[in-house]
Amino acid sequence: MTALVDACRHFATHVRLLADQLGAIELSDDDVELVHDAVHQVFTAAGLAAAVATGLQRHTGEQDCPHYNVLTDAEWALLAEGGRHERKAVYGCELQPGHPGAHAAHVQVLPGPDRFVWIRWDLRARELLTLPPCPAERADPHPDPRSPYADEPARCKLFEGHVGPHRY
Ligand SMILES: [Zn+2]
Ligand SMILES: [Zn+2]
Repeated sequence: MTALVDACRHFATHVRLLADQLGAIELSDDDVELVHDAVHQVFTAAGLAAAVATGLQRHTGEQDCPHYNVLTDAEWALLAEGGRHERKAVYGCELQPGHPGAHAAHVQVLPGPDRFVWIRWDLRARELLTLPPCPAERADPHPDPRSPYADEPARCKLFEGHVGPHRY
């Protein structure tokens, strides 16, 4: 525990000093790309440490659960190929604020047959798993005729057996 706390302190001091130096010099487009990748790795590592150790929260407004998580490069590498979605920096919990049990965020849809990959976590555990979609459909007698999906039934965006109300 002390080792992690110390490492975070040193690391933060170091990154701040480097950021000061970086702010004072011209960066080429390639440099910007390199810095972006490096900072993303730092963000992911720090986010993962926090997610596993204490949980992560942000201000999201009252309609969203404030907990979020991140994926490591190694985790994403297994999910990128053939997946429908790009990687996100942050995966916010999609359940209702104040919900009981673990937090959950949708991460990827992998092909053949569709596999819906979620990240699910609480203060002590964190896992990537495939969950079938919630079968609920919105009962809407007056679909918006301007919507490109007007003919499609609106499916709940959550997984089967989720807590709380459906989310469309
Ligand atoms: Zn949550
Ligand atoms: Zn649902």
